[in-house]
Amino acid sequence: MLEGFAETFETADIHVDLLFADDFVSATQKVLDVAPWDGAPTVFDTERLGGETVAKNIDLSSDSSHVAVLMNRQILAPDGRGGAHTIFLLAHELTHPILNRLRHQSGILENVMFPSVTPIEFARSVARIAADEYRADRAASAVLGHFATRSTTAGEPEAMTVWDLMGSGYTDQLSDVLSATIWPGWPDLITSYRHHHVSLERLWSGIVSSTDQTLTLLAHAQAVADIGDQPGPVEVTRSHPGTERYIGPVWSSLMDVLDQHNAIGTADVLGVADDQIADIAEHVVLEMWRKLGLTFTLGDEREDYFIHVSDSQQ
Ligand SMILES: [Zn+2]
Repeated sequence: MLEGFAETFETADIHVDLLFADDFVSATQKVLDVAPWDGAPTVFDTERLGGETVAKNIDLSSDSSHVAVLMNRQILAPDGRGGAHTIFLLAHELTHPILNRLRHQSGILENVMFPSVTPIEFARSVARIAADEYRADRAASAVLGHFATRSTTAGEPEAMTVWDLMGSGYTDQLSDVLSATIWPGWPDLITSYRHHHVSLERLWSGIVSSTDQTLTLLAHAQAVADIGDQPGPVEVTRSHPGTERYIGPVWSSLMDVLDQHNAIGTADVLGVADDQIADIAEHVVLEMWRKLGLTFTLGDEREDYFIHVSDSQQ
Protein backbone atom coordinates (compact mmCIF):
# COMPACT_ATOMS: atom_id res chain seq x y z
CA MET A 1 0.00 0.00 0.00
CA LEU A 2 2.80 2.37 0.97
CA GLU A 3 4.62 1.70 -2.28
CA GLY A 4 1.45 2.30 -4.28
CA PHE A 5 0.75 5.58 -2.50
CA ALA A 6 4.38 6.69 -2.78
CA GLU A 7 4.34 6.01 -6.52
CA THR A 8 0.94 7.63 -7.16
CA PHE A 9 1.79 10.81 -5.29
CA GLU A 10 5.46 10.94 -6.33
CA THR A 11 6.70 10.74 -2.78
CA ALA A 12 10.46 10.93 -2.20
CA ASP A 13 12.27 8.05 -0.44
CA ILE A 14 10.51 6.97 2.68
CA HIS A 15 11.18 4.27 5.25
CA VAL A 16 8.50 3.21 7.73
CA ASP A 17 9.05 0.91 10.72
CA LEU A 18 5.73 -0.62 11.71
CA LEU A 19 5.63 -1.90 15.28
CA PHE A 20 2.81 -3.82 16.96
CA ALA A 21 3.21 -3.34 20.69
CA ASP A 22 1.58 -5.34 23.48
CA ASP A 23 2.43 -2.55 25.88
CA PHE A 24 1.59 0.32 23.56
CA VAL A 25 2.13 3.19 26.00
CA SER A 26 5.60 2.21 27.19
CA ALA A 27 6.77 1.17 23.71
CA THR A 28 5.63 4.55 22.29
CA GLN A 29 7.28 6.40 25.15
CA LYS A 30 10.58 4.59 24.45
CA VAL A 31 10.57 5.70 20.80
CA LEU A 32 9.50 9.27 21.69
CA ASP A 33 12.39 9.54 24.14
CA VAL A 34 14.89 9.10 21.30
CA ALA A 35 12.99 11.09 18.64
CA PRO A 36 13.96 14.75 18.98
CA TRP A 37 12.09 15.75 15.80
CA ASP A 38 8.72 14.86 17.14
CA GLY A 39 7.05 17.81 18.83
CA ALA A 40 4.87 15.57 21.01
CA PRO A 41 4.68 16.10 24.75
CA THR A 42 7.45 14.30 26.59
CA VAL A 43 4.98 12.12 28.47
CA PHE A 44 2.83 10.07 26.12
CA ASP A 45 -0.81 9.88 27.07
CA THR A 46 -3.46 7.97 25.11
CA GLU A 47 -6.38 9.99 26.41
CA ARG A 48 -8.13 12.15 23.79
CA LEU A 49 -11.44 13.99 23.76
CA GLY A 50 -14.02 11.47 22.64
CA GLY A 51 -11.77 8.43 22.84
CA GLU A 52 -8.40 6.87 23.24
CA THR A 53 -5.47 6.79 20.85
CA VAL A 54 -4.46 3.31 19.67
CA ALA A 55 -1.65 4.19 17.25
CA LYS A 56 1.12 6.75 16.91
CA ASN A 57 3.28 8.08 14.08
CA ILE A 58 6.70 9.26 15.23
CA ASP A 59 9.20 11.05 12.99
CA LEU A 60 12.67 9.53 13.26
CA SER A 61 14.28 12.07 10.92
CA SER A 62 13.98 15.79 10.41
CA ASP A 63 12.57 15.42 6.87
CA SER A 64 9.97 12.70 7.62
CA SER A 65 11.90 10.20 5.48
CA HIS A 66 12.11 7.74 8.38
CA VAL A 67 9.03 7.15 10.50
CA ALA A 68 8.01 4.73 13.23
CA VAL A 69 4.35 3.73 13.31
CA LEU A 70 3.36 2.09 16.57
CA MET A 71 0.08 0.28 17.00
CA ASN A 72 -1.59 -1.17 20.04
CA ARG A 73 -1.61 -4.92 19.37
CA GLN A 74 -4.43 -5.47 21.87
CA ILE A 75 -7.03 -3.90 19.58
CA LEU A 76 -6.00 -5.66 16.36
CA ALA A 77 -8.00 -8.64 15.12
CA PRO A 78 -7.29 -11.20 12.38
CA ASP A 79 -10.75 -11.60 10.82
CA GLY A 80 -14.40 -10.65 10.76
CA ARG A 81 -15.50 -7.15 11.61
CA GLY A 82 -12.45 -6.70 13.85
CA GLY A 83 -10.25 -7.64 10.92
CA ALA A 84 -11.88 -5.01 8.73
CA HIS A 85 -11.30 -2.47 11.48
CA THR A 86 -7.65 -3.51 11.67
CA ILE A 87 -7.20 -3.01 7.91
CA PHE A 88 -8.75 0.45 8.18
CA LEU A 89 -6.57 1.45 11.15
CA LEU A 90 -3.39 0.20 9.50
CA ALA A 91 -4.17 1.98 6.24
CA HIS A 92 -4.98 5.18 8.14
CA GLU A 93 -1.73 5.10 10.11
CA LEU A 94 0.33 4.34 7.00
CA THR A 95 -1.20 7.30 5.16
CA HIS A 96 0.23 9.76 7.70
CA PRO A 97 3.92 9.18 6.77
CA ILE A 98 3.05 9.78 3.10
CA LEU A 99 1.28 13.05 3.94
CA ASN A 100 4.13 14.21 6.19
CA ARG A 101 6.79 13.33 3.63
CA LEU A 102 4.88 15.13 0.86
CA ARG A 103 4.49 18.16 3.10
CA HIS A 104 8.26 18.28 3.58
CA GLN A 105 8.82 17.85 -0.14
CA SER A 106 6.42 20.70 -0.91
CA GLY A 107 8.69 23.15 0.90
CA ILE A 108 5.86 24.84 2.79
CA LEU A 109 7.32 23.79 6.12
CA GLU A 110 10.39 25.95 5.56
CA ASN A 111 8.50 28.90 7.03
CA VAL A 112 6.76 26.90 9.72
CA MET A 113 8.15 27.02 13.23
CA PHE A 114 7.99 23.72 15.04
CA PRO A 115 6.74 23.01 17.64
CA SER A 116 4.10 25.75 17.67
CA VAL A 117 4.53 28.56 20.20
CA THR A 118 2.33 31.51 19.22
CA PRO A 119 -1.50 31.41 18.93
CA ILE A 120 -1.24 31.89 15.16
CA GLU A 121 1.16 28.97 14.85
CA PHE A 122 -1.18 26.80 16.94
CA ALA A 123 -4.22 27.79 14.85
CA ARG A 124 -2.43 26.93 11.58
CA SER A 125 -1.05 23.68 12.96
CA VAL A 126 -4.32 22.29 14.39
CA ALA A 127 -5.99 22.85 11.00
CA ARG A 128 -3.22 20.97 9.16
CA ILE A 129 -3.53 18.10 11.62
CA ALA A 130 -7.31 17.95 11.15
CA ALA A 131 -6.95 18.06 7.35
CA ASP A 132 -4.57 15.09 7.49
CA GLU A 133 -6.96 13.08 9.64
CA TYR A 134 -9.74 13.75 7.14
CA ARG A 135 -7.60 12.74 4.16
CA ALA A 136 -6.16 9.68 5.93
CA ASP A 137 -9.67 8.42 6.77
CA ARG A 138 -10.82 8.82 3.17
CA ALA A 139 -7.72 7.09 1.80
CA ALA A 140 -7.99 4.28 4.38
CA SER A 141 -11.65 3.72 3.55
CA ALA A 142 -10.71 3.24 -0.11
CA VAL A 143 -8.02 0.73 0.91
CA LEU A 144 -10.53 -1.10 3.11
CA GLY A 145 -12.84 -1.45 0.09
CA HIS A 146 -10.15 -3.46 -1.72
CA PHE A 147 -10.05 -6.08 1.01
CA ALA A 148 -13.50 -6.23 2.58
CA THR A 149 -17.04 -6.47 1.32
CA ARG A 150 -20.49 -6.22 2.84
CA SER A 151 -23.68 -7.63 1.41
CA THR A 152 -26.38 -5.28 0.24
CA THR A 153 -30.07 -5.88 0.83
CA ALA A 154 -30.16 -7.52 -2.61
CA GLY A 155 -27.49 -9.94 -1.38
CA GLU A 156 -24.79 -8.60 -3.70
CA PRO A 157 -21.34 -8.04 -2.21
CA GLU A 158 -20.21 -4.40 -2.22
CA ALA A 159 -16.94 -2.75 -1.21
CA MET A 160 -16.97 -2.03 2.52
CA THR A 161 -16.41 1.57 3.64
CA VAL A 162 -15.53 3.21 6.92
CA TRP A 163 -19.20 4.20 7.26
CA ASP A 164 -20.10 0.49 7.46
CA LEU A 165 -17.57 0.14 10.28
CA MET A 166 -18.09 3.31 12.30
CA GLY A 167 -21.55 4.59 11.42
CA SER A 168 -22.35 7.69 13.44
CA GLY A 169 -19.83 6.75 16.18
CA TYR A 170 -17.58 9.80 15.81
CA THR A 171 -20.50 12.21 15.58
CA ASP A 172 -21.99 10.66 18.74
CA GLN A 173 -18.62 11.18 20.46
CA LEU A 174 -18.63 14.78 19.29
CA SER A 175 -22.06 15.32 20.87
CA ASP A 176 -20.65 14.03 24.16
CA VAL A 177 -17.57 16.27 23.89
CA LEU A 178 -19.74 19.31 23.13
CA SER A 179 -21.68 18.88 26.37
CA ALA A 180 -18.83 17.59 28.52
CA THR A 181 -16.09 20.01 27.45
CA ILE A 182 -17.11 22.84 25.14
CA TRP A 183 -20.41 24.24 26.32
CA PRO A 184 -20.55 25.44 28.99
CA GLY A 185 -17.03 24.06 29.65
CA TRP A 186 -14.99 26.57 27.61
CA PRO A 187 -16.65 29.76 28.88
CA ASP A 188 -16.62 28.26 32.39
CA LEU A 189 -12.86 27.78 32.12
CA ILE A 190 -12.48 31.48 31.27
CA THR A 191 -14.62 32.37 34.29
CA SER A 192 -12.49 30.11 36.51
CA TYR A 193 -9.38 31.95 35.37
CA ARG A 194 -11.00 35.33 36.02
CA HIS A 195 -11.84 34.16 39.54
CA HIS A 196 -8.24 33.00 40.00
CA HIS A 197 -9.14 29.31 40.21
CA VAL A 198 -6.87 28.27 37.33
CA SER A 199 -3.61 29.73 36.05
CA LEU A 200 -3.27 31.46 32.69
CA GLU A 201 -0.98 28.64 31.58
CA ARG A 202 -3.60 26.01 32.39
CA LEU A 203 -6.35 28.02 30.74
CA TRP A 204 -4.37 28.49 27.53
CA SER A 205 -3.02 24.94 27.27
CA GLY A 206 -6.52 23.62 28.00
CA ILE A 207 -8.10 25.68 25.23
CA VAL A 208 -5.36 24.86 22.70
CA SER A 209 -5.41 21.12 23.32
CA SER A 210 -9.18 20.84 23.36
CA THR A 211 -9.41 22.92 20.16
CA ASP A 212 -6.90 20.56 18.57
CA GLN A 213 -8.66 17.39 19.73
CA THR A 214 -12.13 18.68 18.81
CA LEU A 215 -11.01 19.54 15.27
CA THR A 216 -9.49 16.07 14.94
CA LEU A 217 -12.76 14.51 16.09
CA LEU A 218 -14.68 16.70 13.63
CA ALA A 219 -12.34 15.56 10.85
CA HIS A 220 -13.01 11.88 11.56
CA ALA A 221 -16.76 12.45 11.92
CA GLN A 222 -16.85 14.45 8.66
CA ALA A 223 -14.83 11.89 6.69
CA VAL A 224 -17.02 8.99 7.80
CA ALA A 225 -20.23 10.97 7.15
CA ASP A 226 -19.04 12.10 3.70
CA ILE A 227 -18.14 8.55 2.70
CA GLY A 228 -21.52 7.28 3.94
CA ASP A 229 -23.34 10.16 2.22
CA GLN A 230 -24.74 11.26 5.56
CA PRO A 231 -25.20 14.71 7.14
CA GLY A 232 -21.91 16.02 8.58
CA PRO A 233 -21.15 16.57 12.28
CA VAL A 234 -21.87 20.32 12.26
CA GLU A 235 -25.26 19.73 10.67
CA VAL A 236 -26.14 16.97 13.14
CA THR A 237 -25.12 18.99 16.22
CA ARG A 238 -26.08 22.46 14.92
CA SER A 239 -28.59 23.19 17.69
CA HIS A 240 -25.92 22.69 20.39
CA PRO A 241 -24.65 26.08 21.66
CA GLY A 242 -21.05 24.77 21.44
CA THR A 243 -21.48 24.12 17.72
CA GLU A 244 -23.45 27.27 17.06
CA ARG A 245 -21.09 29.63 18.89
CA TYR A 246 -17.68 28.04 18.53
CA ILE A 247 -16.87 25.00 16.46
CA GLY A 248 -19.56 25.24 13.76
CA PRO A 249 -18.25 28.38 12.01
CA VAL A 250 -14.63 27.14 12.29
CA TRP A 251 -15.30 23.72 10.85
CA SER A 252 -17.59 24.94 8.07
CA SER A 253 -14.93 27.41 6.89
CA LEU A 254 -12.20 24.76 6.96
CA MET A 255 -14.40 22.29 5.07
CA ASP A 256 -15.09 24.87 2.36
CA VAL A 257 -11.40 24.65 1.49
CA LEU A 258 -10.79 21.02 2.39
CA ASP A 259 -13.69 19.90 0.20
CA GLN A 260 -11.70 21.07 -2.82
CA HIS A 261 -8.56 19.30 -1.61
CA ASN A 262 -9.82 16.11 -0.03
CA ALA A 263 -7.55 13.78 -1.99
CA ILE A 264 -3.89 13.49 -1.08
CA GLY A 265 -2.32 14.82 -4.30
CA THR A 266 1.32 15.37 -5.13
CA ALA A 267 3.63 17.52 -2.98
CA ASP A 268 2.82 20.70 -4.93
CA VAL A 269 -0.93 20.14 -4.73
CA LEU A 270 -0.75 19.33 -1.02
CA GLY A 271 1.41 22.38 -0.37
CA VAL A 272 -1.05 24.78 -2.00
CA ALA A 273 -4.00 23.19 -0.20
CA ASP A 274 -2.19 23.25 3.12
CA ASP A 275 -1.37 26.93 2.90
CA GLN A 276 -4.98 27.77 2.05
CA ILE A 277 -6.32 25.71 4.93
CA ALA A 278 -3.84 27.20 7.39
CA ASP A 279 -4.61 30.77 6.19
CA ILE A 280 -8.35 30.24 6.76
CA ALA A 281 -7.68 28.62 10.13
CA GLU A 282 -5.60 31.56 11.26
CA HIS A 283 -8.71 33.74 10.90
CA VAL A 284 -11.48 31.46 12.04
CA VAL A 285 -9.74 29.78 14.98
CA LEU A 286 -8.51 33.12 16.33
CA GLU A 287 -12.03 34.49 15.90
CA MET A 288 -13.40 31.54 17.89
CA TRP A 289 -10.90 32.20 20.67
CA ARG A 290 -11.83 35.91 20.57
CA LYS A 291 -15.49 34.99 21.06
CA LEU A 292 -14.38 33.02 24.09
CA GLY A 293 -12.66 36.12 25.45
CA LEU A 294 -9.07 35.37 24.39
CA THR A 295 -7.12 37.92 22.36
CA PHE A 296 -3.39 38.25 21.80
CA THR A 297 -0.64 40.79 21.33
CA LEU A 298 2.52 39.55 19.65
CA GLY A 299 5.86 40.83 20.94
CA ASP A 300 9.21 41.33 19.22
CA GLU A 301 10.35 37.84 20.03
CA ARG A 302 8.32 34.80 19.09
CA GLU A 303 7.98 33.68 22.72
CA ASP A 304 6.93 37.16 23.91
CA TYR A 305 3.24 37.21 23.23
CA PHE A 306 0.54 38.37 25.60
CA ILE A 307 -2.78 36.69 26.19
CA HIS A 308 -5.64 39.00 27.14
CA VAL A 309 -8.62 37.42 28.84
CA SER A 310 -11.98 39.18 28.92
CA ASP A 311 -15.54 38.08 29.56
CA SER A 312 -16.77 35.38 27.22
CA GLN A 313 -19.71 36.51 25.11
CA GLN A 314 -22.14 34.30 26.98
ZN1 LIG B 1 -4.54 9.84 12.18
